[in-house]
Amino acid sequence: MTQAQAGSGALEALLQEDRRFPPPAELAANASVRDPQIYAAAGRDPEAYWAARAEEQVSWFRPWEQVLEWKAPFAKWFVGAEVNASYNCVDRHLQGPRADKPAIVFEGEPGDTRTITYRDLYAQVNLAAATLRRLGVKKGDKVAIYLPMIPEAAVVMLACARLGAPHTVVFGGFSPESLADRINDCQASYVVTSDGGWRRGAVVPLKANTDAALERTSTVKTCVVVRRVGDAAGVSMKEGRDVWWHEALEQTTESGQTECPPERLDAEHPLFILYTSGSTGKPKGILHTTGGYLVGTSLTHKWIFDLKEDDVFWCTADVGWVTGHSYVVYGPLCNGATCVMFEGTPDYPDKDRFWALVARHKVTILYTAPTAIRSFMRWGEAYPRRHDMSSLRLLGTVGEPINPEAWMWYREHIGGGRCPIVDTWWQTETGAIMISPLPGLTTTKPGSATLPFPGIDVDVVDERGDPVPLGRGGYLVVRRPWPAMLRTLWGDDERYIQTYWSKYPGMYFAGDGCRRDEEGYYWFLGRVDDVLNVSAHRIGTMELESALVSHPSVAEAAVIGIPDEITGQAIAAFVTPKMGVNADEALNHTLRQHVAQKIGPIARPKLIRFTSELPKTRSGKIMRRLLRDIAEGRILGDTSTLLDAGVVAQIKEQYEAQEA
Ligand code: ATP
Ligand code: MG
Repeated sequence: MTQAQAGSGALEALLQEDRRFPPPAELAANASVRDPQIYAAAGRDPEAYWAARAEEQVSWFRPWEQVLEWKAPFAKWFVGAEVNASYNCVDRHLQGPRADKPAIVFEGEPGDTRTITYRDLYAQVNLAAATLRRLGVKKGDKVAIYLPMIPEAAVVMLACARLGAPHTVVFGGFSPESLADRINDCQASYVVTSDGGWRRGAVVPLKANTDAALERTSTVKTCVVVRRVGDAAGVSMKEGRDVWWHEALEQTTESGQTECPPERLDAEHPLFILYTSGSTGKPKGILHTTGGYLVGTSLTHKWIFDLKEDDVFWCTADVGWVTGHSYVVYGPLCNGATCVMFEGTPDYPDKDRFWALVARHKVTILYTAPTAIRSFMRWGEAYPRRHDMSSLRLLGTVGEPINPEAWMWYREHIGGGRCPIVDTWWQTETGAIMISPLPGLTTTKPGSATLPFPGIDVDVVDERGDPVPLGRGGYLVVRRPWPAMLRTLWGDDERYIQTYWSKYPGMYFAGDGCRRDEEGYYWFLGRVDDVLNVSAHRIGTMELESALVSHPSVAEAAVIGIPDEITGQAIAAFVTPKMGVNADEALNHTLRQHVAQKIGPIARPKLIRFTSELPKTRSGKIMRRLLRDIAEGRILGDTSTLLDAGVVAQIKEQYEAQEA
């Protein structure tokens, strides 16, 4: 963030939102959390509260001597305790009826399905861990995982956790360069990949990508290859380095050593390193450890999604993102939940694929991203209407602020008007959800992530670090360490301190702009790096984009500031119209009027450019920094996490054509 962007004022509070949705009575009566006193109790004695949660949520081989050791900004949670994530996600569910409950319900892109019970998962994770051990993986070795969304991804993650070998999962959509960068950064000595993965009927050549990546790395000893697409992918195996996973598993079976007891690991043993999405710059290698992370993810999963024994939980995130780590694998499996795992995309073979899955697997809880919801809106409600989605009882979102319009559409057309929505704010760094409704207690407001989770001490502060009054915008900070927090940036304590702890000593700086309303509800305004400064008014991108998306012709919008002699910065909007809408001069004028009317004359965009797409990270987040580069005619910044390089060229072309 530059000094100019930081400014001295606070973000303006502009949009009004009056809609309210109290918890449905029946859900409230049976919810995981029913007593509002929990907030005050957690606030009075956070360490006692976290210790109690740690006892309820996680099975420990050895208890802790100290709940928290805080040598700011370095935290240790559950000091002296021993634990294993794989034991907690698998072994302990074998006692009693959960053993035969589905742990993972998998659907591949071509429509193949697999149901893996907890008993099956136990056998598979043991066999995988025994095999990795036989291949030489030891406690402390780093294992890079570059797989499609197939059960093997979860199984290998858990097998690594069983051995105490930290994994680094790299999203299967990343290029060889990005894979190599991540391998080099964390010095991985093993890679687990597959021959390929399915994407819209075509094969993504993961093994070939890995081969290219391994030419740029020197640390990898062994490359394990899962067979996913079979003959469709002509892979070449390198003698002495590459091993077929199915053959290695077979050999382990033949050896008879198919069990692998979980290592007793220190609570602070590294569980994984994961790189952020790169919306704002070069990705950061976030380190998470074992005990606190398990407590945070499993607790938030149980309370925020109101988990019941017979729920079918579907988090649509890829395991390559933190959401996939915390809410496809560790949180839900630690809770003994049934999780749906899907390999494909929402629009293949048709735009109703998600809804077909919901109906087929009787999904009860759905957790997805605003970017997906905005696509569904663009495609229209006919697609969800094709399917019986009456099994759904709760909906969640994560990844970006959700525009009130998208929230309402989600509620109505996916949730049938009956399902509560939990808008959950958190980051790769925070490990688990930090701000979210508790569905049995919290009255929700479309567009607000509502309130901090019990035990999470967040605040909104001004430039000096003083709390801003309700109604004013500022910077989101966390005042107290929390169990699932990142421990450092891998191999770079200095950057860890610089990035998160140097703006306000003693407070974690999240990098997001936020405002609290008169009831203390949190409204995210956008990233601090994206904040606009128009005639000395600081305006978040979120409210402008929400105003644009609230117009019936608009599917998606991204707003940036461009230099302006008079106002300092002026507002420029990139707008993707809904399908079939004529993007002409009249619409341009109407939209500028519309924003001025919704927010105020100061918010009237100086220019609007229609584009058929917006630049997004591979996790679906809008990259405004690239739009700024386009608008100012600069060379593009780091594009390694960009979903589709072609899109940027196309936007540039459309932008310049409309300028003329
Ligand atoms: P980088 O840090 O490399 O720029 P990133 O911030 O996109 O990447 P993530 O950790 O995946 O990487 O994303 C966390 C960010 O996503 C948050 O800081 C916030 O800006 C945004 N976010 C996530 N959930 C929400 C939400 N419910 N409401 C508002 N913003 C959200
Ligand atoms: Mg970030």
